[in-house]
Amino acid sequence: MPTDVINPATGTVFTSVPSLGLEETDAAIERARRAFPAWRAVAPGERARLLRRFAAVVDDHLDELADLEVRNAGHTIGNARWEAGNVRDVLNYYAGAPERLIGKQIPVPGGLDVTFHEPLGVVGIIVPWNFPMPIAGWGFAPALAAGNTVVLKPAELTPLTAIRLGELALEAGLPADVFQVLPGKGSVVGQRFVTHPAVRKVCFTGSTEVGKSIMAGCADQVKRVTLELGGKSANIVFADADLEKAAAAAPSSVFDNAGQDCCARSRLLVQESVYDKFLALLEPAVKSFRVLDPADKSAEMGPLISAAHRDTVASYVSDADVGFIGNAPAGDGWWFPPTVLLARSPDDRHWREEVFGPVLSVLPFRDEEEAVRLANDTEYGLSGSLWTRDLGRALRVSRAVETGALSVNSHSSVRYWTPFGGMKQSGLGRELGPDALHGFTDVKNVFLASGE
Ligand code: NAP
Ligand code: MG
Repeated sequence: MPTDVINPATGTVFTSVPSLGLEETDAAIERARRAFPAWRAVAPGERARLLRRFAAVVDDHLDELADLEVRNAGHTIGNARWEAGNVRDVLNYYAGAPERLIGKQIPVPGGLDVTFHEPLGVVGIIVPWNFPMPIAGWGFAPALAAGNTVVLKPAELTPLTAIRLGELALEAGLPADVFQVLPGKGSVVGQRFVTHPAVRKVCFTGSTEVGKSIMAGCADQVKRVTLELGGKSANIVFADADLEKAAAAAPSSVFDNAGQDCCARSRLLVQESVYDKFLALLEPAVKSFRVLDPADKSAEMGPLISAAHRDTVASYVSDADVGFIGNAPAGDGWWFPPTVLLARSPDDRHWREEVFGPVLSVLPFRDEEEAVRLANDTEYGLSGSLWTRDLGRALRVSRAVETGALSVNSHSSVRYWTPFGGMKQSGLGRELGPDALHGFTDVKNVFLASGE
């Protein structure tokens, strides 16, 4: 049964893709299992060359991939081009890995002891709709580099770029069945990755609720699992910070990708002595945030992903104290304006739950101790920022906030050179950075007796 693909900026169906059933999923996993021995046996330098070719082919199709994402996910053209470029860059980065997958030689008596980083076999990657290209690449690039074969399930709402990347892999010369993209339902294709014994690891990005069920399901086979789940990250602004700079940067830290970003700094904590001044600086920055047709080069934000998601986001605003609201186009499509809510207390629903939309909640704090306590008063721990000119405070607060990635005087979370992942219920394991291959390998220890 095909699934309709909708342009969220217009609300219209523009194509459809097949939705795979259980039998087709099993057949694809079986092909991946059979392709594994030959792929792991490809010489490291040759595997590296193939990944670099894949990166070059992605680069040749960068405009096409970006245009697909603008239409399918409503991403701004600027973001979509960055996202396609990120797939290329991550492939190039991990193309350096096969030749550097170095084990240890450990001093032991009576012989030689060495470790090998062995690939796992078939890796299943489950991708959400919010960043279809980068999240796919953060999984498949290191997984392939380490010598695994990959089956990847894109989100039903946003399958087009992943399907195209699967075709481009073949065009680049990757052997058949080494990287397969399987569009379909999470409850069918994704769930089969969890239950099929030939799939040795599941990488899941999405909601905490589904992530927990995947982790529970994987326990049955002691299957490896990496989880990148939700977030409710804090942006902490201290009174001594460069307030103009912090206020100018705050909107994109939460409204980028229409707030559909697990790293969104959706809780703004402002020191009470500068609270009024900071909100006065923030208001014009929010009101001038450009929410436009995502194909427009000057757009900073597009629509939400679906009508149902827009209803969910709206439910957080209806009974809240609204500080101020930015602009959004009227008419067709799932538009929602950048919205700033004033939290009455840390118990407010919009302060506690991941809205996953362009909604920023603001709360004042007294001092450093209270800022840290409020920032940590959540089950999530993915990302966050703090703004201060005091180096000692930057260091103390960075160490005290329980989160996987923090930035001081900026809003950077994801750089492919550095590890990315969550503490607490935001996730398990790390993606990207120099150590990501260890998530796609198991260590084997071999002792060779010298005899006598
Ligand atoms: P979701 O249900 O967790 O979906 C993420 C991916 O998992 C999709 O590919 C989905 O397939 C698949 N999936 C769903 N149920 C599954 C199951 N039982 N077994 C295996 N795979 C399964 O997330 P959502 O419904 O798209 O979004 C709900 C909320 O999750 C959002 O509002 C947001 O709060 C959060 N979220 C977080 C992130 C993040 O980056 N951490 C990303 C997306 C969403 P289908 O396409 O068929 O649904
Ligand atoms: Mg869901």
